[in-house]
Amino acid sequence: MYSKTRIYPFTEDFYHKAIIKDSYEGRLFKLRNAIDHADYVVIGAGARLSAAAGIAYGGKRFTDSFTDFIARYGLTDMYSSAFYPFQTEKERWAYWARHILMNRLDMPATNSYRRLFSIISEKDYFVITTNVDGQFEKSGFDKERIFAVQGDYAYLQCADRCHEKLYYNENLVRKMVRQTTDCRIPSGLVPHCPVCGGKMDVHVRKDHYFVQDNQWYASYERYQDYMEKVCDGNALLLELGVGYNTPTIIRFLFERLAAQRKNITLVRINKDYPDAQNRMTNWVSFDENIGSILSDIGT
Ligand SMILES: [Zn+2]
Repeated sequence: MYSKTRIYPFTEDFYHKAIIKDSYEGRLFKLRNAIDHADYVVIGAGARLSAAAGIAYGGKRFTDSFTDFIARYGLTDMYSSAFYPFQTEKERWAYWARHILMNRLDMPATNSYRRLFSIISEKDYFVITTNVDGQFEKSGFDKERIFAVQGDYAYLQCADRCHEKLYYNENLVRKMVRQTTDCRIPSGLVPHCPVCGGKMDVHVRKDHYFVQDNQWYASYERYQDYMEKVCDGNALLLELGVGYNTPTIIRFLFERLAAQRKNITLVRINKDYPDAQNRMTNWVSFDENIGSILSDIGT
């Protein structure tokens, strides 16, 4: 999901352009109205929500914290660094430990997520997210109502997926960060699979070795059950910052539902990709800043 490669399956002409006709105030009114009248709210969140919330993977936030790695490996940001072919496990985990600590373990609930929670908390809601930073849970969203499809930085798994189990990594990660010298952790801290003895990985989907444990499947089932209910009621699909890294999981699905069902309203908040490929009447799109919109809804 954090690959820089974006997939554009359709040409620009194919996208439905008739979107941002209303004034900002007009669209905000529609959004408030959709929230007020929704029996169900499904939040679909992508990487741009976290980036807009302040968890930026590039710029000063990156250069200030990874000076040593930048000097040694020429890393440019935390998206591409996640794919850097570190030669040893000691180096790979030194990088990842800092990445996990910064973006997940030590990152407090951000204002944007907290605001989103205060807007939605009284509603019957469910969250599906491709983000792996735990922000929804930290901000007060009910764990039972979150489906984090692509994993969670706070867990490790066997890199070969020899067994479907996850391991909470906080203590280990903190130790790794404390004991990093010269862009390496001590070899004694390199994690090994307790079953096959092989390499471990961060629990983030990048290929078919991604572990889906019982809890993952339970969340998936709760999400599916919820989406069945949604189709029978008056529902709002609130999509925030979902781009084209993995568009089928949230973006295309939300559009298809809104295009097929009049009882479903789609609100898309996306500065970079506010358009849609389906023709829909029951949708509103924003290309303004997510943080400002979330503040303005509450006022
Ligand atoms: Zn294993």
